[in-house]
Amino acid sequence: MTEQTPLTSLLKSQIQATGPLTVPEFMTLALQHPEHGYYRQREAIGAAADFVTAPEISQVFGELVGLWLVQRWIDLGQPSRVLLLEFGPGKGTLMADALRAASAMPGFLTAVELVLVETNQTLRRVQADTLSAYSPRWIESLSAFEADAPVLVIGNEFIDVLPTAQFAVANGQWFERLVALDEAGGLAFVLGQPKTPVLPLLPKPEDGLFYEIMPSLPGFLKDLSSILSAHAGAALFIDYAHDGAAAGWSLQAIQNHEKVDPLAAVGEADLTTLVDFEAAGTFAAEVGLTAPAPVTQRDFLLVLGAWQRFEMLAESAPDDAPALLQSLQRLVGKAQMGNRFKAWTCHFPATLPAPAGFPTDTESGTGTSGASNA
Ligand code: SAH
Repeated sequence: MTEQTPLTSLLKSQIQATGPLTVPEFMTLALQHPEHGYYRQREAIGAAADFVTAPEISQVFGELVGLWLVQRWIDLGQPSRVLLLEFGPGKGTLMADALRAASAMPGFLTAVELVLVETNQTLRRVQADTLSAYSPRWIESLSAFEADAPVLVIGNEFIDVLPTAQFAVANGQWFERLVALDEAGGLAFVLGQPKTPVLPLLPKPEDGLFYEIMPSLPGFLKDLSSILSAHAGAALFIDYAHDGAAAGWSLQAIQNHEKVDPLAAVGEADLTTLVDFEAAGTFAAEVGLTAPAPVTQRDFLLVLGAWQRFEMLAESAPDDAPALLQSLQRLVGKAQMGNRFKAWTCHFPATLPAPAGFPTDTESGTGTSGASNA
């Protein structure tokens, strides 16, 4: 049963006026509508809100990302100015933990100019509190941003909010999943003629194939490439991701930590899809970036020293050790976030040293250290 929200009525009148909406059109309205969009106002993240993210689970996550950033800054030749951008910083926890850990590196914090890409005004206020020591500035998107220095970029659970188009093959041809009205006038998914202009990017139509694609991902990576290649730079994204190419549909809605029907409570639940880092790698290469294959969050964090960091924390606060271990397991456990989340990186120029936490071509691709029973 779909709940009537201000956005449900708006969607229905729009469908009546101009026909079914594509899933990207639906997601854009549900998440970014200026007045009622999910990401416009509410504070969605945290135990008392709709979902919990890795940096909110354990400080180790942000600290290791901080060490990764320091290593990349060294790889860039320790420039005296570096623009540090975070996409979708949430409560600012990831960046606060990262910069606290990175402050151990002389010169890094002095070089950093912090830029936060955030559309949510409520979260901007939270970020202003958490990160006041680093005098951040905010932008809405990359469109008006010019990089006048080397750039480092991070984003955790950011790409997964980009709108996704969904397709399926029937009778040898592609159909697109659309949001329409059913006989009772409620919102319903149907299959119709493809409307999102991405057909050239779809694989050969084979019966039974389901596929999804983020139509704004190529443009996003083009904008990213223009800021990374203005001087030099590297980006790190971590997301709940497809294993390999995006065969299958993964749109899901989360409200109060529970999965809900994406068409119920429109604007009041978070909507995400799995990220196709294989496609991201292809698009990134097309715009001149170097993008190694993604690794699991588990391998990324363990290679960067998650286990060693846990041991240090547990030693200084033995009473907290069980809770610390539990949070580490949530991040790296194979059945928890460890294998489902993937880390992906890209950089410019190609001659930059291989990024920390990602196996080089000569390694096996499963470079895990210690803690294999986590
Ligand atoms: N990185 C944080 C939050 C992830 S939730 C963490 O790991 O806890 C997604 C974040 O992206 C939120 O801060 C949300 O407000 C922001 N966001 C969503 N859509 C966006 C867009 N189009 N542009 C910029 N930020 C966006």
